[in-house]
Amino acid sequence: PSKIVSGAKGGRTVVAGVTLSNPDKILWPATDGAPAVTKGELASYYEAAAARILPHVADRPLSIIRAPDGIEGQTFFQRHAAPGAGPRLKLFEIGEGKPYVGVTDVGGLIALGQSGALELHPWGCRPGDPETPDQVTFDLDPDTALDFGAVVEAAHAVRARLEDLGLTPFVKTTGGKGLHVVAPIRSDGRSRVDWDQCKAFAKAGAEAMRRAEPDRFTTTLAKKARGGKIFIDYLRNGRMATAVAPWSPRARPGAGLAMPIAWDQANASLDPRAFTLHDAARLLDGPDPWADFRKAEASLRPALKTLKL
Ligand code: ATP
Ligand code: MN
Ligand code: MN
Repeated sequence: PSKIVSGAKGGRTVVAGVTLSNPDKILWPATDGAPAVTKGELASYYEAAAARILPHVADRPLSIIRAPDGIEGQTFFQRHAAPGAGPRLKLFEIGEGKPYVGVTDVGGLIALGQSGALELHPWGCRPGDPETPDQVTFDLDPDTALDFGAVVEAAHAVRARLEDLGLTPFVKTTGGKGLHVVAPIRSDGRSRVDWDQCKAFAKAGAEAMRRAEPDRFTTTLAKKARGGKIFIDYLRNGRMATAVAPWSPRARPGAGLAMPIAWDQANASLDPRAFTLHDAARLLDGPDPWADFRKAEASLRPALKTLKL
């Protein structure tokens, strides 16, 4: 596959029907080992990755991190649609003030890229239904003293716990310091649960793991409680909570991606920094380790019962 990102100037100005202003604007400056990434290239990436990204973000309210002047400029965490957001963005009337922003298709992704959206953070809800969770996320946040191998082992421990509870979890890197373990849950008919149930499940699951191995896990948000442990951040599972989307770039040096991986890639040699926008063409050329994510949906109800919730 030809490179999507190479620091090239003079790239396309229209991507998926969306006109880009300043396509040569540098969003990620060049680093020692890697060329800069321009806005035009970010748009090309969103276009190339749309089939992988959209199943996880389409028709869900999104928080975005915008860096219109690049990662060294000001960044904004934004949930609401800007006035005049344009026809390609979807608006969610959540019932509290201004509408929330979302996308339905590749044009929407490019429109976000055009506005300088470097990161995509969807709700964990069912498409088109912000009141219904359809996945549960365990966000593993290691103490800075730990090496990444400890996070990998923790992810496998969470996986085993979730499988015991009848779920089928998947794992992704975040483009940051930890890993996310995510299980799709059925959200139709009698399987449907609400946000309180989803959050209660995540909390109880995390607490059970902490009780079993208190030297290894903490469920306390405060960084000072983390000493040498992994914080199992279950707070990603409430209404309005988000987690970074699979394949989302991060607005940090290195242009890392939140990368969905297969469980056998989560081993001692996993280097989460190996997944970046610079390798996007190669990564997209490979198989999708999360291709069966939706097919793996399981009801949360038996798990709620097991945990006496
Ligand atoms: P890392 O692996 O470095 O922890 P992360 O994406 O998991 O990366 P966290 O700080 O653990 O970063 O946050 C988890 C998720 O919570 C994020 O992916 C994001 O969607 C959401 N989040 C983080 N900070 C905020 C914030 N200030 N406001 C709202 N949501 C946030
Ligand atoms: Mn995290
Ligand atoms: Mn966290």
